Amino acid sequence: MTALVIVGHGTRSTAGVDQFTALVERVRRRAAGIEVEGGFIELSRPPLTDAVGTLVGRGHRKLVALPLVLTAAGHGKGDIPAAMAREQDRHPGLAYSYGRPLGPHPVLNDVLEQRVDAALAGADRAGTWVALIGRGSTDPDANAEVAKVARLLWEGRGYAGVEPGFISLAEPSVPAVLDRLRRLGARRIVVAPYFLFAGVLPDRIVAESAAYAAAHPDLDVRVADLIGDCDALADLVLERYAEALRGDIRMNCDTCAYRVLMPGFADKVGRPQTPHDHPDDPVGGHHHHHGPHDHAHHDHAHHDRDHHDHGGVALVGGGPGPDDLITVRGRALLDAADVVVVDRLAPRGLLAGLRPGVLVVDAAKVPRGPAMEQDDINATVVEHARAGRRVVRLKGGDPYVFGRGHEEVQACLAAGVPVTVVPGVSSALAGPALAGVPVTHRGVAHEFTVVSGHLPPGHPQSLVDWPALARARGTLVLLMAVETIGKITATLIEHGRAPDTPVLAVQDAGHADQRTVPGRLDEIAAVTARAGLRPPALFVVGPVAALRAPAP
Ligand code: SAH
Repeated sequence: MTALVIVGHGTRSTAGVDQFTALVERVRRRAAGIEVEGGFIELSRPPLTDAVGTLVGRGHRKLVALPLVLTAAGHGKGDIPAAMAREQDRHPGLAYSYGRPLGPHPVLNDVLEQRVDAALAGADRAGTWVALIGRGSTDPDANAEVAKVARLLWEGRGYAGVEPGFISLAEPSVPAVLDRLRRLGARRIVVAPYFLFAGVLPDRIVAESAAYAAAHPDLDVRVADLIGDCDALADLVLERYAEALRGDIRMNCDTCAYRVLMPGFADKVGRPQTPHDHPDDPVGGHHHHHGPHDHAHHDHAHHDRDHHDHGGVALVGGGPGPDDLITVRGRALLDAADVVVVDRLAPRGLLAGLRPGVLVVDAAKVPRGPAMEQDDINATVVEHARAGRRVVRLKGGDPYVFGRGHEEVQACLAAGVPVTVVPGVSSALAGPALAGVPVTHRGVAHEFTVVSGHLPPGHPQSLVDWPALARARGTLVLLMAVETIGKITATLIEHGRAPDTPVLAVQDAGHADQRTVPGRLDEIAAVTARAGLRPPALFVVGPVAALRAPAP
């Protein structure tokens, strides 16, 4: 059985050392068949090196090292792994799995609740505010953990409120959080130290609470016991041991200043936290709200470095608009993107799920005119890809259906930038389908034609053979035709389509405000004009338009 070494940071308090030793003994009793030793990295005896030496002396070459810390901060992320690295130098061949910090964990919340209740001694929870006091760190993520535990302790337990505070290095201090609670109207406050064992800092919590209470005789201030040596804590240690053995060492690093740029911590982002390093999460593991905004972005130092070799462009068809009509492949590329250049009709709801730090460029917005010129788009895409970034060019529908997709492919190829195309669900098919219209139906339509109505019939640059389309009997799907529908329908009727051919106009297909307007070929222009039909909209022309399934 892999042995367990429990690693403490050390304390000047003999009571704290006694509690640690008692916990190690308790874990040993409750862990049938596992050899357990405990040691400190500084200040207290036994030193870690003795504990490891004992286990190695008994023949262990593989250990679980469990940092006995509540939150991941300097000790857990840096000091203890460094001490273990020294042990590995001392004992060649020694391997160890590193356990994650004890908190946050529901069991700890329950223990804190018991400690608060003991302090209350029957006084009612509803009239009680709790100040949960953590150690405090220069690492905002560690402080956020305490805030998270405070929130979890409040949820569902009936206290008036729970506010976090810190005894060292972080704000609010104990007097500051007590003051805050007093201003909120608190009359009774339980100060709950978020600490395992006795030590200098927990003593300071007691002293500062007492001083505040003395200065505010109208307030009932009580201090709860520490978590201390108890069965719940011993079992949690063994749970973390089992996780480490399974290789399940998740950490709460989502907001770590070393990986995410936070105001005031720019010097940390992208730097390794030696010797403990955060492996990058698999792509897409960090979803974070990030609105669409041009050029305002967090630039991760390591971000660009890591991805330098991966620069390239993916032209991704995003589907007709809803977030979930993109393809799985398109979504995966989006999740891995460093830069997203997005069109107006693309599924913009997906931008909110991008990783933090992703640059979003809105191709529908100004830098120079009412719309970003195609040349500007091409240049933007190429430039980012050349800088080693993974660019997703997110388009509405399918990139090759009236999307100018191939122009962008050609621009990339000309610049020597790798480019790939991910097909999308075109609105030409999705629009009718989402409105309940099949573009083909046995015995009714054996062909369908997708036509751009951007240039009206008779326009010198038009490439469409409107008379041929008029003579054909298949379904017509007209895109970009809201302005030109009058000329189009007149031309179709003139060349032989029946004036009573059913037509369905579909606006904003797939969106919550999807609208449909039915009519005959000879009236649809007037009907849609009266109805105020606006782009994006399409027209389905042909007998299939009359087969419409009722809206779900
Ligand atoms: N590449 C896109 C089409 C680009 S042309 C695709 O494959 O879907 C833009 C036209 O597509 C619009 O003028 C409109 O006719 C149609 N369109 C795009 N999204 C639409 C939607 N959600 N509802 C209705 N029509 C849409």
